[in-house]
Amino acid sequence: MPLTVHQFPCLSDNYGFLARDEATGQVACIDTPDAAAILRELDKLGWTLSMILNTHWHADHAGGNAEVQTATGCRIVGPAEVTRIAPLDREVGHGDRVSLGETTFEVIEVGGHTLGHIAYHDAADHIAFVGDTLFVMGCGRLFEGQPEQMWTSLQRLAALPDDTTVYCAHEYTAANARFALSVDDAPALKARAEQVFAARERGEPTVPTTIGQEKATNPFLRAPLLAAHVGAAGQPDHFAFAAVRQAKDVFKG
Ligand code: ZN
Ligand code: FE
Repeated sequence: MPLTVHQFPCLSDNYGFLARDEATGQVACIDTPDAAAILRELDKLGWTLSMILNTHWHADHAGGNAEVQTATGCRIVGPAEVTRIAPLDREVGHGDRVSLGETTFEVIEVGGHTLGHIAYHDAADHIAFVGDTLFVMGCGRLFEGQPEQMWTSLQRLAALPDDTTVYCAHEYTAANARFALSVDDAPALKARAEQVFAARERGEPTVPTTIGQEKATNPFLRAPLLAAHVGAAGQPDHFAFAAVRQAKDVFKG
């Protein structure tokens, strides 16, 4: 039985996600950007929350934990770093499995944006929740980690099957596409950027994406191919990644 994902915008550019295991009706909420919005969506759908799955400790991901738990009595699962701002019922790390009814999420360590950032992969349904690690045509800023750690994390996600549906936590895609066009001439990029700009003009989300689409058009995943263009020719792959990340950090598009 599949996992049904309900996605909704909240705060200025976050997405909230409710995931329902259809076999049992159990529901997980991936991160808690906006407690009021999460409780409203649960109410609208008539779904009962079983657990919160946190990806990292930032307030726009775990800041609503207490309010959502108080309102629903759900359990909270996440990486140890979340305890910097709120308690957890279960700490998880790389390779751990989390059950939601008949659905199993495998935890993938994807540090870099924060040191302890994790992603949740439901292999049976080809779905991954990646928080602020991988964005559509982008990746998270390195607030805590080093480029080598983030590059390793992105490679872990890139190794998932191409048809994996990837739920990113922010709608940053139009800005990411403008940057991508400035550093990369991937054959698939121009057409995709046009689709993205049109979708955003219509007010439509560009999330989710897929691993296959990102491998074709995301300049961070394609960094080794762009090495010469970003001044990292002949350097290890994570140097090329660091150069692309640096270029994005100063890009004024
Ligand atoms: Zn974050
Ligand atoms: Fe965030």
